[in-house]
Amino acid sequence: MAEAVIALGSNLGDRAGNLRAAVQALDALPQTAVLQCSGVYETAPVDCAPGDGDYLNAAVRLETAMPPALLLGACLGIEASQGRQRPFRNAPRTLDLDLILYEGAAQTDPWLTVPHPRAAARAFVLVPLWELYPDGAAPGFPLPAVPADAADGVRRTDLQLR
Ligand code: ADP
Ligand code: MG
Repeated sequence: MAEAVIALGSNLGDRAGNLRAAVQALDALPQTAVLQCSGVYETAPVDCAPGDGDYLNAAVRLETAMPPALLLGACLGIEASQGRQRPFRNAPRTLDLDLILYEGAAQTDPWLTVPHPRAAARAFVLVPLWELYPDGAAPGFPLPAVPADAADGVRRTDLQLR
């Protein structure tokens, strides 16, 4: 079994429901269990059109025997099953599942780069990750500090993933 972390985001439809359904679907994948869920955070959209809705963001820690490419494929399938569409880059989405890290895996293919190339620069990914790894020792991805002004934009909600 390997440890993996998936970041979840939604800014369309029933955002909390979309995230919760995703956690259930991840937990139901073969040879995969969701070990831990972060809290749910609300963040303004980044690099998006004016008027796009705020995101709910979270991260989950898994253990899995699925190889990285298969896990990513499963994530894309879960996105599709929840109505994810890609009309243009950074479009609003019912569900985004990004594979942030996968224990023992490091690759830079365009269809799968792990650790995720933009995770270190995104407060809405790092804040939930720090919650999962309070010592900052995420496997293969030592967590960078989140600048205070960026962390301010990631607002903790009372919502729970399960
Ligand atoms: P983004 O999450 O950056 O807004 P998309 O969700 O539309 O973009 O993903 C586009 C593609 O990025 C996916 O089809 C996938 O193959 C690729 N990709 C590469 N590395 C990763 C990763 N670590 N996690 C998720 N998708 C990835
Ligand atoms: Mg994505």
